[in-house]
Amino acid sequence: MAVKPDFNIMEECKDAKNIIVTGHIKPDGDCIGSSIALTLYLKKRLPDANVRLLIEKPAPCFESVKGIDLPEPDYAGPEADTDVCIVLDTNAGRIGNAEKYFEHAKKKINIDHHISNAEGCGDFNFIDPHASSASELVYRLLEEEYLDEDIAKFLYLGIAHDTGVFRYNNTSPETMIIAAKLISFGFDFSDLLEKTYYEKSYDQAVLIANIVKESKNYFGGRVVYGSVGYSEFCEKQLKPTDFDGAINELRIIKGCECAIFMYPMNEVTYKVSLRSTGSVDVAKVSGTFGGGGHMRAAGFFLKGTREEILEKILKEISEQTGWGVWTE
Ligand code: 5GP
Ligand code: MN
Repeated sequence: MAVKPDFNIMEECKDAKNIIVTGHIKPDGDCIGSSIALTLYLKKRLPDANVRLLIEKPAPCFESVKGIDLPEPDYAGPEADTDVCIVLDTNAGRIGNAEKYFEHAKKKINIDHHISNAEGCGDFNFIDPHASSASELVYRLLEEEYLDEDIAKFLYLGIAHDTGVFRYNNTSPETMIIAAKLISFGFDFSDLLEKTYYEKSYDQAVLIANIVKESKNYFGGRVVYGSVGYSEFCEKQLKPTDFDGAINELRIIKGCECAIFMYPMNEVTYKVSLRSTGSVDVAKVSGTFGGGGHMRAAGFFLKGTREEILEKILKEISEQTGWGVWTE
């Protein structure tokens, strides 16, 4: 049975003058979808309130979506005026510029589905690690009669992205029922997913193909590792969003139970993504390096060379699974 929230979002927001909605840095489809949908809903229901959405600018793949320009990443209003701050799809540790508004907010609300955030960071928390997405949780918080085509489109975007378009095992019967209700609003869901989830530029397709080509196998193919180094990153003038989808191409290789992908944030720090089929708890692996996520999808940032970081991850996987020594 789906977990129900133990608070009413309208009740908690109805007297607020200034509401800030936010989500994690490097916003993904779920963060973008849930936060835009909730912002539209609150603006509709509280026309006199000042509802602002503070997330980083969405990646170029979302550019064509009508309404995607709602976030105000450069908003710099007085933080002391924040009546309610709502944090979606993360805890307050990864909300970037919105952190000061969260700290000063008279009321803090946290809506998340990450197992690494089981407690929640708000005065009011709606956390369900079994939910497909933060967008599914937002759907459960909203009153259906106030939904419209735009709100439905953004909730669908979030659910579809976080379930790998309904193919990961976080997709429940309830997820499908919600998605069915959402598409009945009539937006072009096929075009939405084609543009935001599947489409890649030619250069990006070649980059990802190269990552797969250069990838390495460990534990007899149970772990597949791909990466991009700092010099390549600089030479090709790459951006983090160029790697979207790379980790999935590694994960779907037959026999792969855990995929590792890393790219540089700067000369000394790497961003690591992990995906598993279930035999490795990657939220736990990431947790040991200060990151988090879900059992099958997690990540973290770490200082070191690629070789050093890889070795640490393989050691952790070996200890967790008892797979023994990793050989290439
Ligand atoms: P990705 O690999 O796509 O960046 O992230 C996969 C999952 O792990 C997402 O649910 C994301 O929120 C979570 N995640 C990624 N990096 C971090 C991190 O540094 N800290 C935490 N707590 N979660 C992360
Ligand atoms: Mn999510």
